[in-house]
Amino acid sequence: MMMLSTQIVYVKMMLQVCFSNLHSIVLSTLELVFSWVGVNAGHGRVCVAHKAAEAVKTPTPTSVNYHFTRQCNYKCGFCFHTAKTSFVLPVEEAKRGLRLLKESGMEKINFSGGEPFLQERGDFVGKLVQFCKEDLQIPSVSIVSNGSLIRDSWFRKYGEYLDILAISCDSFDEDTNKLIGRTQGRKSHVDNLYKVRSWCKEYKVAFKINSVINTFNLEEDMREQILELSPVRWKVFQCLVIEGENAGDDALREAEGFVISDQQFQDFLDRHRDITCLVPESNEKMRDSYLILDEYMRFLDCREGRKDPSNSILDIGVENAIQFSGFDEKMFLKRGGKYVWSKADMRLEW
Ligand code: SF4
Repeated sequence: MMMLSTQIVYVKMMLQVCFSNLHSIVLSTLELVFSWVGVNAGHGRVCVAHKAAEAVKTPTPTSVNYHFTRQCNYKCGFCFHTAKTSFVLPVEEAKRGLRLLKESGMEKINFSGGEPFLQERGDFVGKLVQFCKEDLQIPSVSIVSNGSLIRDSWFRKYGEYLDILAISCDSFDEDTNKLIGRTQGRKSHVDNLYKVRSWCKEYKVAFKINSVINTFNLEEDMREQILELSPVRWKVFQCLVIEGENAGDDALREAEGFVISDQQFQDFLDRHRDITCLVPESNEKMRDSYLILDEYMRFLDCREGRKDPSNSILDIGVENAIQFSGFDEKMFLKRGGKYVWSKADMRLEW
């Protein structure tokens, strides 16, 4: 059994390398055809050739989510990026990968996990945030965190390099947070959220909230608290099932009891329709409109309802690895993936 899975992984790697080479050959051939058509034909035929080129066009990694760790101090029952490994790249390797992404057109980087502030008590993510803003000059640098481990001292050291901080909060009721698993010991998740919000204001970082709507919070009315916290964006996700992460035999979580129907999700959205910063994300929109890099800097393809990894961008480069990301650039634009994402361009009232 072990031998068979090793062989499958080997065959998959070989296929990826072959495909990468094949892709380059197809592109070069098309380039030759274009130059010939450009010289020998009228405008109409050049357009046909361009359409053919678009069919094999490599997507640009404009906005990337780098889940550099899978470790977390919370135990949310629906978590879909679970602690299957404890691996984290050395910081210099992570920087090398980020530079490759920048050279391929990355304009927004989001650091996620796991819990990003767990590694080196927040210094690891701090160093990457500073590197992306100062050295690579990435227009938008953001973090998604559960907020429980962030300190005032972190903002003093790294706050100026961070554009957006998103904190996950599914409920303003502590008992509901406990039922979901969004909690650690006796600490209050909601108190932390308010504390982080005030630091964002003090250190001029745009504040965002992410909520996952599931069976435990679908009846909640969050309007009052959201208006009080006044985030620049409130992302509202429908609880998502991913095979191998929160469903199936080898998963570390069992999300089945958290899943809600499309209609239940719509009812929650309708109740909050007056909140102008609300950005809804249904399962359909989520599956293939994100570019996700795991802890080895491999793109994860979620199209089949599970996470199929590419080879690492550190081994085969961004252009080759991205062919296996399942990324749908059109869906990314359709879900509003491109927005004002640099704090320099936001008209924020701190
Ligand atoms: S806080 Fe995020 S990473 Fe941690 S368990 Fe919850 S969903 Fe997973």
